[in-house]
Amino acid sequence: MTFQDLQLLPQLLRAVDDMGYEVPSPIQAQAIPPVLAGRDLIGCARTGTGKTAAFAIPILQRLSRRAAKTHRPIRALVLTPTRELALQIKENFDLYGKYLPLRNTVIFGGVGQGPQVEALERGVDVLVATPGRLNDLCSQGHIDLAGIETFVLDEADRMLDMGFIHDVKKVIARLPKRRQTLLFSATMPQEIAELSKTILTNPVRVEVT
Ligand code: AMP
Repeated sequence: MTFQDLQLLPQLLRAVDDMGYEVPSPIQAQAIPPVLAGRDLIGCARTGTGKTAAFAIPILQRLSRRAAKTHRPIRALVLTPTRELALQIKENFDLYGKYLPLRNTVIFGGVGQGPQVEALERGVDVLVATPGRLNDLCSQGHIDLAGIETFVLDEADRMLDMGFIHDVKKVIARLPKRRQTLLFSATMPQEIAELSKTILTNPVRVEVT
């Protein structure tokens, strides 16, 4: 399996080539085709398996099918538990999307919200966020999630461990019902298995160890 076999846009193949990746990792090979096709997905995979590209690459490809308008509604949301992960994921979207005319931004708590609000006001296609700050900015009217087409819940088990599950459910309640949902979790505790049943529709299951 090569990246060419995945029928990616030339701009994405070029970006992947710039990264020096030779072949898709197992999770990428398994997840990219169904995500490109618009399916929901549940992925059992830890950080280090290449799971970020497994969702970022097909999301970028799907978003670039429809050109962004002058007013950019946020079309993809990635929810992740920590600032470090949020920054890493944003950086990945920048790297894989560098030849595409899409914009990404990242928001997290513990810092002033001013620059984050300014970035949002300039318009973004992909938002990477931690749950507390996202709910804050939604409540203040700085973020509208009505245009979300794809939602990624990353590290779902860690969200639970860190006590963020209530915040996550609050975010989910703000999303449009019709959307693509991707859930990643290294382990599948009962509460996450139950949540997955309520937020995913006929998901493809991908497991890598
Ligand atoms: P992640 O699990 O998404 O945090 O990725 C772990 C590391 O693997 C990151 O440093 C990526 O740049 C790298 N990586 C992701 N996909 C590939 C690939 N197909 N080939 C080689 N390295 C990769």
